[in-house]
Amino acid sequence: MLGAISLESLYYHIFDARLRLGREENDFSRWLRGTVAGRISPGRRLFLLDYDGTLVGFHERPRLASPTSEVLRVLECLSGDRRNTVAIVSGRDRDTLGEFFGGLGLTPVAEHGVWLRDPGTEWRTTKKISSSWKPDLLPILQLYTDRLPGALIEEKGAAIAWHYRKADPEQAQVLVGELMDHLTSFTANTDLQIMQGNKVMEIRSAGVNKGTAVAALLQRAMYDFILPVGDDWTDEDVFQMPPPSV
Ligand SMILES: [Mg+2]
Repeated sequence: MLGAISLESLYYHIFDARLRLGREENDFSRWLRGTVAGRISPGRRLFLLDYDGTLVGFHERPRLASPTSEVLRVLECLSGDRRNTVAIVSGRDRDTLGEFFGGLGLTPVAEHGVWLRDPGTEWRTTKKISSSWKPDLLPILQLYTDRLPGALIEEKGAAIAWHYRKADPEQAQVLVGELMDHLTSFTANTDLQIMQGNKVMEIRSAGVNKGTAVAALLQRAMYDFILPVGDDWTDEDVFQMPPPSV
């Protein structure tokens, strides 16, 4: 048991999110259920949980994909145990994560690792980054937004995301290809990187990713147990952290 909540229950919520997305059980969830549920460490634990696609399903309008009361309850129980550090490692911006999780003792990590906030403190960057490239990029994205009904630009502190979840899939496929070519030449010889997520493209400074934030968390404390959970390739950087030295 983790405080008042069992790991099976946490597993259920994560797995339930996958079911709602129509996904099949994968190796990770088998491992989680089969191995971890029976052997949770009594020491310090670090939970690294992705948000969209992991704790909640996807929504046409990302703003509306707020956590359910069940998910909040699970997170509250987990973070209520002093041995647990619960980080929500997301591509979302600070305001949204603050709105979703403000009252809980969690450690939200915003914009794929750029910002981190410990419980009861202010947001801080995990690494210094420049956003001088943004004014040049916005008109390019606007061009494609005008051509693809349903597409929208989301400006974040250190990145710009281009969402096309609401757009016609066939039309989007063509435009995404064209935009990718355009961005590839725009970002050549810069330190920018283009990340392709689930129905979203994001342009950001290279060198900061979810793994950067995880490294910052790992520097501060020794953990006996670390549980990373995520659903797309931006989470790979979380999985590539060094194993705990126990
Ligand atoms: Mg995700």
